[in-house]
Amino acid sequence: MLISDEKTAVKNLSDFRTDLKNLFDTWKAAPYIPAENVFPLEFLNALRGIGALDALLSRDEGGLDLCRTPEGGLVLMALLRRTGYVNLSLGRCLEGHVNVVRLVELYGTPEQRRAFAQTLKSGILAGIWVTDGTPPVTIRKENGHYRLTGVKGFASGVKQVSLALITATNPQGHSIMLLAPTTEADRRRAGPGTLTGMQASGTGGYDFTDVIIPPDHLLGSTGDYLRQPEFSAGAWRGSAVALGAMDRLVDLFRQELLERGRAANPHQLYRIGEALILQKTAAMWVEQAAKAAYAPRMKPEDVVATVNLARFAVERAALELITIVQRSLGLSAFVKGKAVEQVMRDLMTYLRQPAPDEALTDAATWFIGHDWPEGDL
Ligand SMILES: Cc1cc2nc3c(=O)[nH]c(=O)nc-3n(C[C@H](O)[C@H](O)[C@H](O)COP(=O)(O)OP(=O)(O)OC[C@H]3O[C@@H](n4cnc5c(N)ncnc54)[C@H](O)[C@@H]3O)c2cc1C
Repeated sequence: MLISDEKTAVKNLSDFRTDLKNLFDTWKAAPYIPAENVFPLEFLNALRGIGALDALLSRDEGGLDLCRTPEGGLVLMALLRRTGYVNLSLGRCLEGHVNVVRLVELYGTPEQRRAFAQTLKSGILAGIWVTDGTPPVTIRKENGHYRLTGVKGFASGVKQVSLALITATNPQGHSIMLLAPTTEADRRRAGPGTLTGMQASGTGGYDFTDVIIPPDHLLGSTGDYLRQPEFSAGAWRGSAVALGAMDRLVDLFRQELLERGRAANPHQLYRIGEALILQKTAAMWVEQAAKAAYAPRMKPEDVVATVNLARFAVERAALELITIVQRSLGLSAFVKGKAVEQVMRDLMTYLRQPAPDEALTDAATWFIGHDWPEGDL
């Protein structure tokens, strides 16, 4: 019984992987590239079409356990990486959606998980909006319900997301997670101003003032959002998306050098070699981080420190890659409207993730006294 279940599971996962590869190959053969400030709805719909959003759910809810098992995690890595390749903005939104699925699985009650899965099966996009705007979001109890006040400042997919997991501070000063509907257009705000990249992510603000939340929309206990190892470990997914953009950049870089007849120049060859090493280095770190995030026997501190190092390594590799591409293609890499220019601008913006210095130094603090946890992976 167990054996036949496992066989079915692997087959489904491998079918999904094949569908994903086929979709990606189709896109590569004839890429549909929307304007840089247009949300990439077509590709999101294509992902929906192959069941990518459903696959994220647990098997109990009809999914493929992508957010739960080590095998699922490797397929999730491919999904995020390929989405980042096609469109970094969509990668950002998909990664947010995945984060919500994961947090509801970890901290939701069985009833909440079931209700959430039902909502997701209608095809909606969820978002994780934790970065506060002005004023920050607070929550207080009122007649058996909860009233919110305040604004979330960086809300990706502000027009496309219809359910967000947000954090709110209660009167005792503790952070609480909750699920809130986000479909009221007149609550959308301008957000942080015009970013130089990632405009297609539709990152704006959302005003939650006077939104009423029923008690069963509160998730977990106070402080769960920042609970380790999940809080830091989840960053591997953002790195997988960034890696996808690096893959794209390397492809665009090689393609342009070939088209301009400059690929055989020894200096260019040197840089192509360097670029390939950076790409592969980032890929190895992402894989290591993904495995750590799902490793059942690894110490939480090892998981956190490994993913933190991976995050930093991918950021550095991506920034070095951008420098190499600019040096190699010259001014041609700065022409607006060219894919290579937009991918670099999106990637530079995307790489600004919270507290990078802390991620590195915390990892260093841990590994100064502990060996690398190879055996637990
Ligand atoms: C396109 C895009 C979409 C986004 N979408 C969302 C979203 O949907 N939901 C959401 O919640 N957020 C979102 N964000 C926000 C994102 O999660 C981060 O909050 C943001 O990118 C942080 O970047 P930062 O460089 O300002 O980070 P910071 O953490 O401010 O880091 C900047 C620098 O300051 C240093 N630093 C950090 N803290 C301190 C300190 N206390 N004292 C001194 N130095 C410090 C860092 O080490 C670093 O050198 C989005 C951001 C972008 C760019």
